[in-house]
Amino acid sequence: MIREALPSWLRYYENNSYCGEKSAMPMQDETNDTVCPVARSVDLVGDKWTILVMRELYMGATRFEEMQIQTAATPQMLTSRLKALEANGLVERRPYNEKPLRYEYLLTDKGWDFYPVIYALRAWGEKWCKNPDEGLAVHFVHRACGHDVGVASVCPHCGDPLERKDLEAVISNRFLGERESRREAFKRK
Ligand SMILES: [Zn+2]
Repeated sequence: MIREALPSWLRYYENNSYCGEKSAMPMQDETNDTVCPVARSVDLVGDKWTILVMRELYMGATRFEEMQIQTAATPQMLTSRLKALEANGLVERRPYNEKPLRYEYLLTDKGWDFYPVIYALRAWGEKWCKNPDEGLAVHFVHRACGHDVGVASVCPHCGDPLERKDLEAVISNRFLGERESRREAFKRK
């Protein structure tokens, strides 16, 4: 069961039907009895759906429906992850429509600070989890010199260390097609 594999803070959100903003506090967790930062981080972001939600936020998604389409999470799963990300300060929720009330989700500085982790996951996944003939899902071009950096975190052409703001993302046709078909399939439901 998925529930068995959930970290304890998520079980809290799913069991307590958290809804008010005032109760949006990060939860105490058993990993707080360790000084290990890996254990503490994984407690906040170590779940598949949370990682996929973060990927969508970095790809520019701000709205619930687009995140639902591209992660294939159920609305309940997505809601619990977004609430936890908000409670833990990685995401801020802002109304974009009054009637009916609708929110968009934006990354905070703390949320953006997680980006290098996703970039490293991408590099590892391209190397170890894909066939060479599949090609890169997203190409990153160093804005300063115009070269594709592959999966590097230092530009292979000019040697500059790379941050997200230095890179232009170009989604491959294959990944673009995959994302478009998810959107089409969702609309047909
Ligand atoms: Zn460069």
